[in-house]
Amino acid sequence: MILNNMQVPFLSLKDVTALHGAEINEAVTRVVNSGWYLQGEENARFERHYADYIGTKHCIGCANGLDALIWIWRAYIELGVMQPGDEVILPANTYIATHLGITENGLIPVCVEPKLDTLEIDDDRIEAAITPRTKAICIVHLYGRCACTPKILDLCKKYNLKLVEDNAQAHGCWGPILNPSLKGRTSFAEVFGAHTADTTQYDLLEGNAVNNRKNPTEAEEVMWSLLKANNIGLHFRRQHVILNYIVDFFCAEKGLTIELDGGYHFDLQQKEYDEERTKHLTNLGYTELRFTNSELLCNPEGVLAKIKSVASKLPSFRANSLPSLQGGDGGRLVRTGSLGDAAGHSFYPGKNLGALGDAGAVTTNDDDLAACVRALANYGSQKKYVFQYTGRNSRLDEIQAAVLDVKLKYLDQDNQHRQEVAKLYYEGIHNPLITLPKRLDDANNVYHLFPILVNNPSLQGGAGVGLRDRLHDYLASNGVGTVIHYPIPPHMQECYAKELWNVYNTPLPAGEGSGERLLPITEQIHNSELSLPIGPTITAEEVVYIIDLINNFQ
Ligand SMILES: *Cc1c(COP(=O)(O)O)cnc(C)c1O
Repeated sequence: MILNNMQVPFLSLKDVTALHGAEINEAVTRVVNSGWYLQGEENARFERHYADYIGTKHCIGCANGLDALIWIWRAYIELGVMQPGDEVILPANTYIATHLGITENGLIPVCVEPKLDTLEIDDDRIEAAITPRTKAICIVHLYGRCACTPKILDLCKKYNLKLVEDNAQAHGCWGPILNPSLKGRTSFAEVFGAHTADTTQYDLLEGNAVNNRKNPTEAEEVMWSLLKANNIGLHFRRQHVILNYIVDFFCAEKGLTIELDGGYHFDLQQKEYDEERTKHLTNLGYTELRFTNSELLCNPEGVLAKIKSVASKLPSFRANSLPSLQGGDGGRLVRTGSLGDAAGHSFYPGKNLGALGDAGAVTTNDDDLAACVRALANYGSQKKYVFQYTGRNSRLDEIQAAVLDVKLKYLDQDNQHRQEVAKLYYEGIHNPLITLPKRLDDANNVYHLFPILVNNPSLQGGAGVGLRDRLHDYLASNGVGTVIHYPIPPHMQECYAKELWNVYNTPLPAGEGSGERLLPITEQIHNSELSLPIGPTITAEEVVYIIDLINNFQ
């Protein structure tokens, strides 16, 4: 018997925005008052921050997530990598935008069934779908779950296929652990650790870091002149915030920090603090190099040679140097959106990183692709009034970029909240009519959605629209909002009913046979899926209420 009667909406965007309302309002007002509304500083700043966060060289903001996908495929065609009629393998179980990005460009979608326990593309079925026309695999980190597996990376390598990620639902998620020596470690922090500071501390630390940058010591100035502007082929930053520390110099690609010790580093208390910090950062996988000021000032060449030699021995954890893509035994954890050749991101308001309207982005390490996407999304122009491609106007507004830059700072924290909610659901839901997807390590799931499958064992395949709808109505009558993701799979949509690639999947009219269903697992998921409330603002009390309701459902 359930006593309280709460109202738990599926997702309250109003509450989500209010979480950081003051900062968002400040950002919006700043843009309004600036008089500059497109292609300005706000775009540049967000693109830089998001590229750093995802771990790619480039980020190109655009109008929405569907456009991001459309531009990736179109750019591959413009660059001569693909041509219309080529095939792209993608999961059958996804939001239709994944298909639309492909079909918009005259490419042929080849749908592959998901696994029933993960709901993500079944990597055991991909190889059979590869033909001489196959040019790419498009994976979708659906529901916030990492869909990338070592097998998919190996297939891309074996058949020379592009790997494109639809990262619309998984901002902040980490990729698979590819280095066998790192297996068995259970959290990304053990493998690598977070770049960003604890958000409550971040502003304070960043303020100090800015000050330090403005007032460098003599030694810091010398070091910066040696490292800046990719001088030694690596990108360094100075006065960079990691966790609750400010490191003097930092190379993200190698996880390498460099510290300069002035006189005060020899006092005992400072020494203890330094040692503690070194231990902490080293445990998280960072490598620290320390030099004294006089060492640097007397022998800058020697110091630089040491840095180069240490860096050259460290593995890079950029996507393009991951072990299963390039061989070797390095490799550390990287985020979804940097695992393949390019990724499309959506910042639709309800996504984990959501704007206050439509917004999207492409991330990639490929310079040519980046330049082409940037042009396509800006009328096909790289230079004002010169048009290389027949593009469209698909730009990211300055206001949206400013809002996204605020929300990006809190993304890890928001995702962590989602992971705590998911833990309650996983540990609390016990009902024989409900199946939960296989639980992944938190590093590999940012829980954009919390899908459950409502089964009716008496129905063939266990699926039951009737039962699922009854659960939906029961929860609704108890004040709980749920949504189906998605009620009709893309291959069964009217818009694709006449497509040749899809013809075998279309039910035939009455009297013309039964209509072969080639994607039964996808259909079973669409007939039994229901998504429970999850987000950065839902409370533990609300989650427990929902769990009680579900456990009492018959
Ligand atoms: C939301 C979404 C998109 C499209 O993003 P929009 O910004 O809404 O255009 C693409 N793929 C998936 C999987 C999505 O969930």
